[in-house]
Amino acid sequence: MDEILEQLRACLGDDEVIDGADIEERYLRDWSSAPAKRPMALVRPRSTAEVSSVLSACNAAGVGVVAQGGMTGIAGAAIADDNQIAMSLERLRGIDEVDEAAATITAWAGTPIQLLQEAAREKGYLFALDWGARGTATVGGGLATNAGGNRVIRYGMAREHVLGVEAVLADGTVLSMMNKMQKNNAAYDLKQLFIGSEGTLGVITRAVFRLHPLPATACTAICALPDYRAAVGFLRFAQRRLMGAVGAFELMWPDYYEIAHESSSMRPPLPDGYPLYVLTDMIAADPEVDGARFQQMLEEAMEAGLVLDAAVSRSESETETFWRLRDEVAEILRTFAPCATFDVSMPIGDIGAAVAVLRERVTRRWPGRPAMFFGHIGDSNLHFIFALPDQTHETELAVEQEVYEVVRDYRGSISAEHGIGTVKKPFLAFSRSAEEIATMKTLKRALDPRGILNPGKVF
Ligand SMILES: Cc1cc2nc3c(=O)[nH]c(=O)nc-3n(C[C@H](O)[C@H](O)[C@H](O)COP(=O)(O)OP(=O)(O)OC[C@H]3O[C@@H](n4cnc5c(N)ncnc54)[C@H](O)[C@@H]3O)c2cc1C
Repeated sequence: MDEILEQLRACLGDDEVIDGADIEERYLRDWSSAPAKRPMALVRPRSTAEVSSVLSACNAAGVGVVAQGGMTGIAGAAIADDNQIAMSLERLRGIDEVDEAAATITAWAGTPIQLLQEAAREKGYLFALDWGARGTATVGGGLATNAGGNRVIRYGMAREHVLGVEAVLADGTVLSMMNKMQKNNAAYDLKQLFIGSEGTLGVITRAVFRLHPLPATACTAICALPDYRAAVGFLRFAQRRLMGAVGAFELMWPDYYEIAHESSSMRPPLPDGYPLYVLTDMIAADPEVDGARFQQMLEEAMEAGLVLDAAVSRSESETETFWRLRDEVAEILRTFAPCATFDVSMPIGDIGAAVAVLRERVTRRWPGRPAMFFGHIGDSNLHFIFALPDQTHETELAVEQEVYEVVRDYRGSISAEHGIGTVKKPFLAFSRSAEEIATMKTLKRALDPRGILNPGKVF
């Protein structure tokens, strides 16, 4: 152990190799329920070359390395064990370039997502990846988890935003694939291997993302809906009528809606008691006509019986209030702690029935406990918060088992957005076949034969 630490000090200097006992708390755990752990040491390389020398030294010594971004992950994937090295990418921070001709932005792995959004906006572009942890979550972490977030329905998940990646393999080999072109089919697209692989196949050091035109208008509404079937009908109707300009479609079941507006002490935009609610918006470019188009779409949806009632935002502050309903999750988790939270996906047509089954199963087994459902339904993504009767690991596992069995039965995914890490490892086979998992392991062995990259995660 002393030997590898000495080698790392020779690579990075004493200040960027911190002994286990001196590591600050923020490097010890993420936002999941997984317990904090204290790694053998923390290293903070300042360049791709330094990442390469750290990995090459650790590979030779057979010591595990866990890449860390902003530690906002929700799967325990960035937590390093006491016999492993945590490698924070926080020193690789900054925007390299906004290329207006290519409409791309290039940034280092440790750069917070919000900085890319701001740099793009300054030049009149939209960096469309966005989620609640934008101020802390980084380029590297967002790509390693293939993050989704608020605008997937319109712009896609992280994978769809990336044109180029620079990554370092376990043995220190640097793959600098900083492609800026939309079209590049020159054999395998290796960058895809690193997106969504949770730091198990390589360490991302830089990336090129595509930018979009900055929208000029956002029209937002909360609508009440008669049932789930109408919700899907309304989504398709709005997409058709607005020609793909639907920017969000956030469904809320009544238990979530009621708890969310009570928790934020806001006057609800629509009264309680409707079967379902949705927050939807239209992102477009012509303020002169967009409001009228949006309003007309809503009126037609009401005439068709898809929407029962609607509140349209009249100001930016009202729009923020509407979004507070969806962003109230963190506060709800605090109020109802301990909670189990779920991030699953299922074929969109099945989600309404699946929610009924899930609710019936958990409330039958644990009567009286609040169960709150909501989600980015336009992306087939359902979130679910269940207030646990106690904080034991056994209860949490039992609730997970109930929920993931239903997800499996509907051929869904146990992880829509947050990855597998350690917390969902026991259930991976619910969503991936034995053949798929075996192929993943073959890939892992090919790229990381000594198994030093994020050992013990995913499978
Ligand atoms: C309030 C909040 C809201 C969120 N909302 C969403 C949401 O709407 N949608 C969504 O998809 N996710 C959401 N997330 C979770 C999301 O997974 C993380 O925010 C983000 O993707 C992780 O970024 P990070 O930099 O914090 O990575 P970390 O947590 O530090 O790491 C996550 C994983 O990435 C790996 N990793 C980190 N950096 C690198 C690198 N440079 N190279 C290789 N591997 C690396 C780690 O080893 C680990 O496996 C939310 C989290 C929070 C706290």
